Amino acid sequence: MDMQTSFLDRLFDAGLLIDTGVDGLYGRSGQFEEVIAAFERLIDKVGGADGAEAMRFPPGMNRAFFEQSGYMKSFPQLAGTVHSFCGSELDHMSLLKCMEVGEEDWTKDQQATDIVLTPAACYPLYPTVARRGKISAKGALYDLQSYCFRHEPSKDPARQQLFRMREYVCMGTEQHVTDFRQSWMDRGVEMMKAVGLDVTIDVANDPFFGRAGKMMVNNQRDQNLKFELLIPITSTSNPTACMSFNYHQDSFGTKWGLNLEDGSVAHTACVGFGLERIALALFHTHGLDVNEWPENVRATLWG
Ligand code: ATP
Ligand code: ZN
Ligand code: MG
Repeated sequence: MDMQTSFLDRLFDAGLLIDTGVDGLYGRSGQFEEVIAAFERLIDKVGGADGAEAMRFPPGMNRAFFEQSGYMKSFPQLAGTVHSFCGSELDHMSLLKCMEVGEEDWTKDQQATDIVLTPAACYPLYPTVARRGKISAKGALYDLQSYCFRHEPSKDPARQQLFRMREYVCMGTEQHVTDFRQSWMDRGVEMMKAVGLDVTIDVANDPFFGRAGKMMVNNQRDQNLKFELLIPITSTSNPTACMSFNYHQDSFGTKWGLNLEDGSVAHTACVGFGLERIALALFHTHGLDVNEWPENVRATLWG
């Protein structure tokens, strides 16, 4: 805990992260953004020849699609919804009174909008692709990046509430998407090595909520559905997931009605880069001054 606090404080002191008064909600300096931009160019270089279709969604998604995704069944503790004032002038007066007095929670009458905060970059993609009709027999590949929200406030600078995820999502046969996932596990390790980061890969699970969630966790681990690429950031003994590699079998295909040309249900997999975490791993490993980073690392990132 001490280590975490001090790395966060050092990042604040160096101006790389900007304190907002909320744990896990930070501004980023130009230098910090430069590192993320450079790493994204590296991702483009490595993944560019695959012909992925790029799409960029805003950090909020259609609430109906979010409901259909089942996110509230699995991760209710992480979700964020967008609520707004929808009242009359009279309601407005009592709202202002309530805020002035400060005894009651002024947000209690806010109404849910049609928007929820995006929990992972790939969530808006599945219904979008489903609406287009059948997927080519050759499979389909998408390139995504989004700010994502997760309600997990922490002093660990690597656990933020609003952070960016770059993803590639593959849809096709089981063989096609598992090959895709394996190739990105190999590429991920190579990329991290090329920027001087110390990596391991391990099986992982998502934080499924509650007692029923335990079964989901066991199933996910037993079937090797999720792997993470880990890099030390706030602890060497407990390194941080900077990439994840998820195989959904045909569960998203079934849920969203994603079908291949031959009528079979598509299998899907997604590979996610945690962009802030990768930048933090670089600053942790090579120091807070980019000019002092090893020459080969700078060359890989900035040519
Ligand atoms: P963790 O086990 O650390 O909570 P996760 O399994 O929840 O990570 P994923 O849901 O697979 O992570 O998200 C994809 C990637 O997004 C992760 O590999 C990580 O790099 C990044 N990420 C996830 N949660 C956060 C967060 N709170 N802050 C910053 N980056 C995150
Ligand atoms: Zn995903
Ligand atoms: Mg998590």
